[in-house]
Amino acid sequence: MHVLVTGGAGFLGSHLCDALLAEGHSVVCADNLLTGSRDNIGHLAHEPRFEFREQDVCRPFDFGKTDYVFHLASPASPEDYLEHAIATLQAGSLGTMHCLELAKKYRAKFLLASTSECYGDPLEHPQKESYWGHVNPVGPRSVYDEAKRFAEALTMAYRRYEQVDTRIVRIFNTYGPRLQLNDGRVISNFMKQALGGEDLTVYGDGSQTRSFCYVSDEIAGILALATSDEPEPTNIGNPDEFTILECARVVLEVTGSHSNIRYEPLPKDDPKQRCPDISKAKRLLGWEPKIDLRAGLGMSLDYFRAAVQSGQASAS
Ligand code: NAD
Ligand code: UDP
Repeated sequence: MHVLVTGGAGFLGSHLCDALLAEGHSVVCADNLLTGSRDNIGHLAHEPRFEFREQDVCRPFDFGKTDYVFHLASPASPEDYLEHAIATLQAGSLGTMHCLELAKKYRAKFLLASTSECYGDPLEHPQKESYWGHVNPVGPRSVYDEAKRFAEALTMAYRRYEQVDTRIVRIFNTYGPRLQLNDGRVISNFMKQALGGEDLTVYGDGSQTRSFCYVSDEIAGILALATSDEPEPTNIGNPDEFTILECARVVLEVTGSHSNIRYEPLPKDDPKQRCPDISKAKRLLGWEPKIDLRAGLGMSLDYFRAAVQSGQASAS
């Protein structure tokens, strides 16, 4: 297949490009490098079935016939989407529309990378796909949450009214090599701090929970959904739930770091708990994650060590 991956120079997008190339497909990666990096796809420079196009998907574009559009382009970490608030709303709305138009034109399949943030600060736990969520529509996080909720609505509308063959994956917190060191997410912050000998910054009292999925598990789930016939949103994440304080302790253990924990204020509207119900993915796709947090952090250690060292080298 000829596949288009938007956001392909980002963390998840670059791993998706690798997996699609490994399956024998040709891949065009469209990315404006807002939060991604050429480094993430540098190893593909001499791959004849891979092409990078620097492109803002919020502007109309067309790189020719495509069989499958994977739309991942959007700032994703809270720090990034708060810094790029309008661009985030545009990526979810205009960007999604341009990608759906391409899918319509070429009768291509389309997959939207949506998010657990669609559930907001959830009142149902764990979160099933049938839960409609508890989102503050005007709070600071709304630029991301509502953009993704709009993107889901747009995707379903193109399916219902324009006959585009669509999928929607709700991705839960994912980590691994190529997670940007400075994107402010909890795993990148804690790994950077632990390996750099700084205090680990726990926001609030650390009792809020998250469930962390290793990147290879997430990509396997996305590809299983992509090749299924399931049109409704599907959770792909790891259901092992950790408080943020527990997560900090696991990072200290895996890195062998003696850093201290420092408490800082909890950001506004920070969800108190998050854990995917993945019974649908298990039943429909035969998918479940295989790699637990300790193992996944262990597999990410070399990347984070190198990133901290090169960050320190460029700062000095
Ligand atoms: P990332 O920031 O590493 O990657 C996003 C990529 O999109 C970057 O390369 C960025 O430059 C690109 N981009 C942003 N706006 C663009 C635009 N207008 N035009 C072209 N490219 C643009 O983030 P990620 O973690 O890889 O996230 C990828 C997707 O997965 C996002 O849609 C995100 O919402 C979703 N997601 C990720 C997670 C996670 O835990 N990583 C969780 C839920 C959802
Ligand atoms: N967090 C933290 N310290 C950090 C970064 C994040 O305690 O240095 C907390 C954050 O408040 C949230 C959780 O970790 O409760 C996950 O945050 P992240 O930014 O990774 O993603 P989110 O799941 O909130 O989108």
